[in-house]
Amino acid sequence: MTAVRTRIAPSPTGKMHIGTLRTALFDYFLSKQNNGQFIIRIEDTDQERLVPGAVENLLEMFHSVHIPHDEGPFLQPDGSMIEKGGYGPYVQSQRLDLYNKYANELVEKGCAYPCFCSTERLDEMRKAQIAVKQTTKYDRKCLSLTAEEARERIEAGESHVIRIKVPEGKTEFDDAIRGHVVFDHREVDDCIIMKSDGFPTYYLACVVDDYLMKISHVLRGEEWISSTPKSLILCAMFEWEAPIFAHVPLLLGPDKKKLSKRTGDTAVEEYFVHGYLAEALINFVGTLGFNPSADREIFTIDELIQSFDLSKVNSGGAILNMEKLDWMNKQYLMSLQVEDIIRRVKPFLKVPMNDVVERAVGIERSRVARLTEFDDAVKPYLFLAEYDPKILVWKKADVADAIAQLTRMELLVAALSEESCASIALLEAAIKEYITREGLQNGNVLWPLRVALSGQEKSATPFETLWVLGKEESLRRIQVAIALLKT
Ligand code: GLU
Repeated sequence: MTAVRTRIAPSPTGKMHIGTLRTALFDYFLSKQNNGQFIIRIEDTDQERLVPGAVENLLEMFHSVHIPHDEGPFLQPDGSMIEKGGYGPYVQSQRLDLYNKYANELVEKGCAYPCFCSTERLDEMRKAQIAVKQTTKYDRKCLSLTAEEARERIEAGESHVIRIKVPEGKTEFDDAIRGHVVFDHREVDDCIIMKSDGFPTYYLACVVDDYLMKISHVLRGEEWISSTPKSLILCAMFEWEAPIFAHVPLLLGPDKKKLSKRTGDTAVEEYFVHGYLAEALINFVGTLGFNPSADREIFTIDELIQSFDLSKVNSGGAILNMEKLDWMNKQYLMSLQVEDIIRRVKPFLKVPMNDVVERAVGIERSRVARLTEFDDAVKPYLFLAEYDPKILVWKKADVADAIAQLTRMELLVAALSEESCASIALLEAAIKEYITREGLQNGNVLWPLRVALSGQEKSATPFETLWVLGKEESLRRIQVAIALLKT
């Protein structure tokens, strides 16, 4: 079996798109499942659309999601770029000689021809075709030039492009996701493969590189399917074996329309800014349109690698369900080591890190969905906000009872040993034991205690809050509550 080599080939025209991440994950799963290689190639042949920093952003995002590539450009810690792999360069603008050579080869074989038509003429032609409801495609005016005429015009420095001469017939292929696809060549344009600026178009560069880089599977967005007959025609002209194609369906926003900035985050970076964890993002994006098991949602990257199956990728668009992503993120927040969360949450906190914040993060992780929510969640442990004393009173009790219970708790907390204060379980045992011993009701005691400690109607348990705050601050808050109730 030939080696499985997959590639993601983004054009550096902006921040890495979430759809690119999904295709890249599928590429990665497939290659790793088969002990193959995953390659990053930069398709920068459309020089007008280049955005500075886009390649860096892409490589940083791959680094953030911990998806290592085997070949391609690599960002160094000092910000410089190097390449690794035996099939480079991996940036198309550094491969122009190659594309030129292959384009000339096609011209010599009679499979491609120079075209001198002006943009104005092409516009007119297109308009006329639209007017009579014809497929818009090049009318082959320049195909009638003799080789002699063409050479003279080229030598005279006339601006020109090179087009392929699409043969008659049809292209058929088995898409690994969509099944059998047929394109009638009457619908296929004599597309440009070399532009007048000496750069190749996507059609040529992609086919040449996939071949030279020994790519076995081309996974790409559904929007590229109409270029696949051109890819296959080119492969046939060069007499190259074509890779396996798989067109990954679109990502849809919650409105079931193509995901756009208006309906959801399109840049991977945004998901990090909004406090999602790399693990959750991979789990979420890597299972969009592909679910390894009907009764589970959480998968490790290794499980995704093991179970990935191109033929099981759903051919319909995949809707981005943000509630599901929040839910997944929560699951990962619960499963990570607290020290790990503390490390990751630091950049999101406006309050400085200290022991109280660290303990609060450990408690609040079960109550938040994203890293961005921790700042608000830990604040009540640091500062007791003003609150309405009414919330201290349990629904089945009154003010006098609340005062009585809090006074008992003040004494109890004051007498707690250092050992008890260091453990949520011991704190809970001590307080519950007291409640039983004194024949009290949980609600009467725990409700006002919890609210007194947190200053909030909804919060973590009183044992957790006591543990986070420590004895001194807890006592102070209980005293504040009693004083509030008495006024
Ligand atoms: N350069 C194309 C893009 O930016 C890649 C298409 C492909 O993977 O063949 O999406």
